[in-house]
Amino acid sequence: MSFQLFGLPVSRGIAIGRAVLVASSRLDVAHYYVAGEDVDAEIDRLRSARNAVARELTTMKRDLPAEAPAELSALLDVHLMLLHDDTLTGAAKQWIRERHYNAEWALSAQLEVLARQFDEMEDEYLRERKADLEQVVERLLGVLARGADGPSALASHAVAPEQSGDDPLVLVAADISPADMLQFKGGVFLGFVTDVGGKTSHTAIVARSMDIPAVVGAREASRLIRQDDWVIIDGDAGVVIVDPTAAVIEEYRAVKRKRETGRARLARLRHLPAVTRDGERVELLANIEQPGDAAAALAAGAVGVGLFRSEFLFLNRDGELPGEDEQFEAYRTAVQAMRGRPVTIRTVDVGADKELDRMSANELRHEHALNPALGLRAIRWSLSEPAMFRQQLRAILRAAAHGRVRILLPMVGQLSEVRQTLDALARARQQLDDAGRPYGPVELGAMIEVPAAALVLPTFLRYFDFVSIGTNDLIQYTLAIDRADEAVAHLYDPWHPAVLQLIAQTVGCATRLRKDVSVCGEMAGDPAFTEILLGMGLRSFSMHPSQILAIKERVLGTDASRWASALEQILSADDPEREVAALAAEIAAPRGGPLVAAASAL
Ligand code: PEP
Ligand code: MG
Repeated sequence: MSFQLFGLPVSRGIAIGRAVLVASSRLDVAHYYVAGEDVDAEIDRLRSARNAVARELTTMKRDLPAEAPAELSALLDVHLMLLHDDTLTGAAKQWIRERHYNAEWALSAQLEVLARQFDEMEDEYLRERKADLEQVVERLLGVLARGADGPSALASHAVAPEQSGDDPLVLVAADISPADMLQFKGGVFLGFVTDVGGKTSHTAIVARSMDIPAVVGAREASRLIRQDDWVIIDGDAGVVIVDPTAAVIEEYRAVKRKRETGRARLARLRHLPAVTRDGERVELLANIEQPGDAAAALAAGAVGVGLFRSEFLFLNRDGELPGEDEQFEAYRTAVQAMRGRPVTIRTVDVGADKELDRMSANELRHEHALNPALGLRAIRWSLSEPAMFRQQLRAILRAAAHGRVRILLPMVGQLSEVRQTLDALARARQQLDDAGRPYGPVELGAMIEVPAAALVLPTFLRYFDFVSIGTNDLIQYTLAIDRADEAVAHLYDPWHPAVLQLIAQTVGCATRLRKDVSVCGEMAGDPAFTEILLGMGLRSFSMHPSQILAIKERVLGTDASRWASALEQILSADDPEREVAALAAEIAAPRGGPLVAAASAL
């Protein structure tokens, strides 16, 4: 009977194949006491297993193929470090010596102790390192089970699947270590599903960089899926379909072919500069939420980060907000990962739909506000918490010593807010000077997401180096539609002429005054708006990394001057969306044009 499982989509694509189940060696660990005279021999058994695993990992590291992702070597180092850590194998020896546990039992007992410590860690990234520890223990248990010289269970599957004939295979397991994944790169497994794992688990990171469709955290998958079951893994949706009907398999095959053709076509654009048909250069930047997202930004060909939503460092913190040093590390990591490209860090934008766990007096007032979207949000919140604001500014200034950094202020609407921010920035610099801490130069920018800011832009621009249009909020505040309220969602309309006119005015005014202007709201990553935004004169778009290539394709096929000359007509139309569709049909050249054709030939 066909059924579906849901997990986290961590690596894109669709894989269809028969399940190969890899049992967790931890599940069937033997538990027995060793006699007093055998304790030393049992410790030797553990030591030999540790040495065998160390050899396995070192060989794997040495033999990494040139195309293996850079993270993999670092991951193998982490596993080697955990393997030799006294709190794992050293402590397991103690269990053998003091309690006479057999080596497998001693290892799993110590794993339980350490796993609990990991579970209590506040930092999500560190918490997820528990998976690495478990994988090292799995490896040790595997060696103990088959003896130091036997082949690894995965290696034998990866090379010679005997039971399945010519059918494609997908791997189903409680968990898979990144090192084991390497063994089936280019091998027989087309995708994988695991019971555990988070978005930042190393296994997920490696799957993404290897481009293998994967769903992790599918909880009971390894229990519910049977050996040889047909399985569809949809790595875009995080869905696993077990025992699908022939019709469903056919449907997914068609979707897979279509997605693959689309992705292959777009991937060829990765190294092309984004230039319109009439030769206008366009900057495509990434929106990120965590420093780790910088890798995806680079992989997609982003030329910088146009929006780092720093508030994500402050959410789900269970009371404790990140201090200056923790923030500095996060910003510096992103800045260094972008290798000289600019990183625009937006100061914390909490409030409305992004609530902090920690409730200060101000936030408590805010919580009872009648309409949080119009309340103490974003820069208003930061200015009401001056010590916290300066702390964030100091962290950003310090990160600026490591690369090109720009500060972006959310939801500014008043000149008084601009002045207070400049004061806070001056004080933050002074504090760093007093403490003798190095910091770097920053450019200062404002988000244009409140109509008031768009209307007084010439005044604002005296104080700012650049502006970035936050269309998500600009639509909400222009049309008086709470973007989180489903009851009025049908009125939330990016095509509303008032919204388009405010964007066009902002782009035009900033360009005339020779200040950089970009759009970082969702409209920047929606190909439906690329042509009209180019027609307004916009040359900088910031979006989720997954959208960059689709927008680049649109840019390459657009004649910006043609759309510029049609701009007035579009802005004054009753229905700009229909007007744009009619114009697009009228502009005879096929989408893509000669540059895309040239790229396709690459
Ligand atoms: C916006 O408002 O368009 C924006 C980019 O900011 P956020 O979506 O984080 O409010
Ligand atoms: Mg916003």
